[in-house]
Amino acid sequence: MKAENGVLNINYPVSLREPPLQNLKGIILPSPFSLLLSCFLLFSLFPCSAQAPKHIFLFIGDGLGIGTLTYSEIIAKEKGETLCFSQFPVTGLMTTHSADDLVTCSASAVTAMASGEKTKNSMLNIAPDSVHILTPISKILHQKGYWIGVATTVSLDHATPAGFYAHSLSRKNYYDIAKQLPASGFRFFAGSGFLDPEPKDSVSIFALLRENGYAVFTSIHQCFGSKSLKNVLIQPQDKDNVQLPYSISKDKNDFTLAQITQLGIQKLSALNEPFFFMIEGGLIDWAAHDNLAEEVYGEVKEFSEAIEVALAFYKEHPKETLIIVAADHETGGAMILSDGLHFNSEDHTGSIVPVFAIGAGAEVFSGLYDNTKIPKKILHLLR
Ligand SMILES: [Zn+2]
Repeated sequence: MKAENGVLNINYPVSLREPPLQNLKGIILPSPFSLLLSCFLLFSLFPCSAQAPKHIFLFIGDGLGIGTLTYSEIIAKEKGETLCFSQFPVTGLMTTHSADDLVTCSASAVTAMASGEKTKNSMLNIAPDSVHILTPISKILHQKGYWIGVATTVSLDHATPAGFYAHSLSRKNYYDIAKQLPASGFRFFAGSGFLDPEPKDSVSIFALLRENGYAVFTSIHQCFGSKSLKNVLIQPQDKDNVQLPYSISKDKNDFTLAQITQLGIQKLSALNEPFFFMIEGGLIDWAAHDNLAEEVYGEVKEFSEAIEVALAFYKEHPKETLIIVAADHETGGAMILSDGLHFNSEDHTGSIVPVFAIGAGAEVFSGLYDNTKIPKKILHLLR
């Protein structure tokens, strides 16, 4: 390590890159006390009661770091509100660096969280060698018969949602990414729209969706009434295709992440098949990039209200539902000082991020681990 111009250059040690779960088997036990302690640790990490979850929710708060969460808890208390997920029984912490940078972008972060492998910033589900395609957990579960849903407050071809159905050398290849959506066979998609759905001389994404049996809606009420088994909800043409309005600027015609979550649950549980549902609070990150404190809280609250909808489903199916709430990285370098919230950056930072979990197998999400462990832990529960 060397300090230059006040910057201390650091690299993550290998042990932090890949905390080996299996190494617990190799623990040497020098005394009865440590034997007892090890048994306790093993039991609390892998309880015998853990049941394979049939309904899996993965909520990703884009940019929801510890500072943002601290600030949101303070504001929630001031307003007499609560953030439901921070009350979950299991809390964990996650490292987020990418294969080539201490600070990840959303594309390399979602690659780690979906495919369990590190890649370079701006690459989506392709290994750092730029050749090998990585398979996200959503595709693995789709093959196992799970119904898959992907929802976000930003566009469906944006990095985080894209990481669950597409691969690309660049997260900015919006059309190439979107083209992979109709071929996924997933049951439900919802977001603001597509950034580049009909480029010149190329087939329209909407035509591809129709060809592949998807019903596309711009009215959430009509989508609730849809009998189609494959549904896509986006904003109406006169609205922004880039993002849903910020929570604090919404009018009654705008749909919320909570409504989208309710709609997704209705679609994914229609025939009582197992499902995996990824829901992104994408605008927490955007508000933090712009250092907009009020919008940050509004988006964290909107995210929490969507999680409340999943929590109501969990309460009806507690033994077979797992809810994981995580973040892909920290944004804005948010920090609480005596005089309140300070942003120290307009970009992402490399700080560790919080994870919360409740339900079947939730225990395995406690402790400090790398973001590549998320899909591995879920698949471990399903073995
Ligand atoms: Zn992100």
